[in-house]
Amino acid sequence: MLLLRRLAGAGRRRGPAARGLASGAPREAADAVVVGAGVVGLAVARALAMAGREVVVVEAAPSFGTGTSSRNSEVIHAGIYYPPRSLKVRTRPPPLLPLPTLAEFSAPAEPLVASLCVRGKEMLYKYCAERGVAHKQLGKLIIATGAAETGKLDMLLRNAKENGVNDLQLMEGAQAMEMEPELRCLRALLSPSTGIVDSHSFMLSLLALLFILIVSVMQADAENLGTTISYNTAVIGGHVGNEGLELHICESKELQNHTAGSHVTPQLVLLPKVLINSAGLSAVPLAKRFHGLDQAFVPNPHYARGCYFTLSQAKSPFSHLIYPLPEDGGMGVHVTIDLNGLVRFGPDVEWLDGGEDHVSCFLNRFDYSVNPNRCSVFYPVVRKYFPNLKDGSLEPGYSGIRPKLSGPGQPPSDFVIQGQDIHGIPGLVNLFGIESPGLTSSLAIAEHIVSRYL
Ligand SMILES: Cc1cc2nc3c(=O)[nH]c(=O)nc-3n(C[C@H](O)[C@H](O)[C@H](O)COP(=O)(O)OP(=O)(O)OC[C@H]3O[C@@H](n4cnc5c(N)ncnc54)[C@H](O)[C@@H]3O)c2cc1C
Repeated sequence: MLLLRRLAGAGRRRGPAARGLASGAPREAADAVVVGAGVVGLAVARALAMAGREVVVVEAAPSFGTGTSSRNSEVIHAGIYYPPRSLKVRTRPPPLLPLPTLAEFSAPAEPLVASLCVRGKEMLYKYCAERGVAHKQLGKLIIATGAAETGKLDMLLRNAKENGVNDLQLMEGAQAMEMEPELRCLRALLSPSTGIVDSHSFMLSLLALLFILIVSVMQADAENLGTTISYNTAVIGGHVGNEGLELHICESKELQNHTAGSHVTPQLVLLPKVLINSAGLSAVPLAKRFHGLDQAFVPNPHYARGCYFTLSQAKSPFSHLIYPLPEDGGMGVHVTIDLNGLVRFGPDVEWLDGGEDHVSCFLNRFDYSVNPNRCSVFYPVVRKYFPNLKDGSLEPGYSGIRPKLSGPGQPPSDFVIQGQDIHGIPGLVNLFGIESPGLTSSLAIAEHIVSRYL
């Protein structure tokens, strides 16, 4: 494990050699530790490094972005749906306050100060343009296919304006179908600022910038540990108390034969000044293993798988992204197009059992299989707006799992970004429920954390 090897030679040991839950494991001081090298963890690590912090990124998988960050629609969202009061940032502790549902979108809202999605979209477009990350501002049509749905487009339009998204155009079905001849709808809302991004290239670029920062920090101070990314390294828990933060770490391979409930012994204890829990699907299970953190601040996790089916025909029938109205737990089975022109439909919503085996979560042992039979649900849903979809043209694609904080039938919950102001622990920032639009918001989340908590 790179981290163990590097730290062993760094001479930065601190505190007693053995204590409490992690007795016997070497203890090492660190400046800032980010758990998880997904798109959010990488964006935060880069922002921390740019702010002059020494950052250690600890990632359980053998590479970056193998979790939700590589299993999504790769859409740069405009910021249309999210309730204006939310900012997709919760600044109050649980119990989680329900956010307005789609039906309540017309309720008067407080003025929007800043939305992480809207801000993130701007930052992401600028970042991609400056760094040559592949992206395309395709635009999207949100469509109403039934008479009962048309009023909801008005609600979405009002909501978007509250969020500072002022470029939407409401149009009759005929105009939308002129733009997209294969489409069938009664009315549509065009969002010109929605786009797509190559999420892998984006993460590679964040990583490349981190490496530039690593080299410059190490050249400036050869004794300095600098920024480090340690793959195959799992955080298995921690301790938060008066003496600061303790992070219990071991090689991921040590967890391979673990069975639910069995004890895992840390091989290293890191003592960071700043700890960002950006473990995606595992962020809640990990926080449940932070002894000393008041568990009233740790929400219950919910997981919802979303499967994609790809269209076998070579030429895309659409030039815009096509979205039906949102459904419980997701945004509706929509059409996305990747940068190679491949069309995919999805994701649907399939609620999963939470499971209490935290260690399996850390190793990302979720079931990502796509049941080919689910296509029988996709055909009728997609044909509502794409009637020419041919039998046999959908092929199983991939799936992603949403790290949710609300369950079936409950109103959508906000992003939860908790720092000392909420849970009272200096240096600890927990990121919970970073589902969509987490990719779009990643740079803004990082900016928010650095400006608010450093
Ligand atoms: C189906 C689907 C579609 C989506 N579509 C979009 C979209 O179009 N646009 C958009 O903006 N957003 C979208 N999202 C949301 C977006 O993908 C996520 O918000 C984003 O990828 C979250 O990134 P992350 O870094 O928080 O999490 P992740 O990418 O999951 O990264 C977390 C990392 O932590 C590591 N880890 C976990 N536990 C441990 C541990 N104990 N120790 C060390 N490392 C650990 C994991 O291995 C993983 O690499 C979608 C999500 C889903 C599920």
